[in-house]
Amino acid sequence: MKQTKIKLRWQIFAFVLIFAGMVIFIFCFFQIFMLDYFYRQNKINSAGDVVDEAISILKEDANYSVKLNELARNTDCSIYIINTDKTKQQYNQVYSGPTDYYNLICNNIDTINTNTTKDKFYITFRYPIQSQLYQGPLMDKKNIKLSDDADIICCRFITTSNTSDKFLLVVDSYLTPLEPVVETMEEQLLVISLIVLVLSILVALIISEIISKPIKIMTNDANELAKGRRDIVFNGSGYSEIYELNSALNYAVNELNKTDTLQKELLANISHDLKTPLTLISGYAEMMKDIKDEITPENLSVIVDEANRLNVLVNDLLNLSRLQSKTATFNMTNFDLNNLIKSIVDREQAFHQKDGVSINFLCNNELNIYADEHKMEQVIYNFITNAINYSKEDKRIVIEEENIDNFIRVKIIDHGIGIKEEDLNVVWNRYYRVDKTHQRSTKGTGLGLAIVKEILEYHGFKYGVESIYEKGSTFYFDIPIVNNESVNK
Ligand code: ADP
Repeated sequence: MKQTKIKLRWQIFAFVLIFAGMVIFIFCFFQIFMLDYFYRQNKINSAGDVVDEAISILKEDANYSVKLNELARNTDCSIYIINTDKTKQQYNQVYSGPTDYYNLICNNIDTINTNTTKDKFYITFRYPIQSQLYQGPLMDKKNIKLSDDADIICCRFITTSNTSDKFLLVVDSYLTPLEPVVETMEEQLLVISLIVLVLSILVALIISEIISKPIKIMTNDANELAKGRRDIVFNGSGYSEIYELNSALNYAVNELNKTDTLQKELLANISHDLKTPLTLISGYAEMMKDIKDEITPENLSVIVDEANRLNVLVNDLLNLSRLQSKTATFNMTNFDLNNLIKSIVDREQAFHQKDGVSINFLCNNELNIYADEHKMEQVIYNFITNAINYSKEDKRIVIEEENIDNFIRVKIIDHGIGIKEEDLNVVWNRYYRVDKTHQRSTKGTGLGLAIVKEILEYHGFKYGVESIYEKGSTFYFDIPIVNNESVNK
């Protein structure tokens, strides 16, 4: 995969710059292109408010002229009241604003339709100058049209408090030309853009420094670790993610150190276990080569035994490595586990009878399971041989099956040396021996329970051990009852 090798600093700079560009663009768009629109909307709303206020003054106050003038002054509008009686054709009572403008409106009104049965009132103007003045419903605040670029004019028909005559209320709100404002803003925005650019560079530099500094330190530490320094402690600082990374990496270093130790121990154990039989084999062979009388069946059997032992050890190692690397093949079939246990018990019983070992299997039922028969044989064989190997005077071994909830627990019980509580969980580790001096065990290879663990885990069978030190141990595994197969019939 192709990696992007752009430095963090430049990536942050690019993001900050894009962000600043977007902000400036939005700002420019609203300030330059939308300013006119927002300004007009604002004026239209306020012209509508002035109309509402003017109407309430006209309705409540008989002497409304003073108040209307004051309202016009305060809101920077011109307010006109025009008599709409077409027969009189009188336009009077101007309250505010230039007279010529008032005249302009009055003289240009062409028709005034006062048909109140409809809720819409129309006025039209004679000349195009005011043709936009009003064309549409007059009853609410929204009924406002722009006369031309200069003004916003809002009209509404009203009746005043002291007469039932209809009047036309005209509110003319002046628009300030925006071109000079926009020009000033354009110049300002240019300067602002330059400032933002410089600030973006500064912010990018600061952020990248804050983010990348601890990463740089930790990368150096990681390189040292890769070179083999195992005493590295990651202690980058700055922000919470770095502290989390610190603890994750320190945990990894710890685990790496543990694995290193285990690997060394494993190598030492394997070498030890391989070396001892090899030394014996070569020693006895040399002796028999030099002294012909020493070629005795006993000496030869030492060589054969040790060669067998080597064979078992190498086989166990191969087995375990296949199981752990998940390359072992499992041949799953349905078979009767109790039948299998019986055959192993018979075999082992016959073999160890002379040593006073008694193995009792108390179950006569069928227990059909779906598993790899050969591998399950290895499991049971391992449990039984361990039970025999770690027995003292009392060599009674019992195999029991217990029905617990939804599984059947197969238990291999001995009355041997037992296991201390602190060792109960670790006996399943490869090469773990309760005897820490790694004395040469005459029987086991130290890999048996590690192989058992892998096999049972593959099948999904839970397993465990209960033990009382110096009294005996019970190793067990559970066969789940998922269908009629795994039921004690
Ligand atoms: P080994 O070849 O040493 O027996 P295992 O993996 O089979 O290797 O067992 C690991 C260790 O667990 C043994 O060395 C022994 O200390 C302990 N152990 C296993 N089975 C028993 C048992 N039935 N009673 C007491 N200790 C046991």
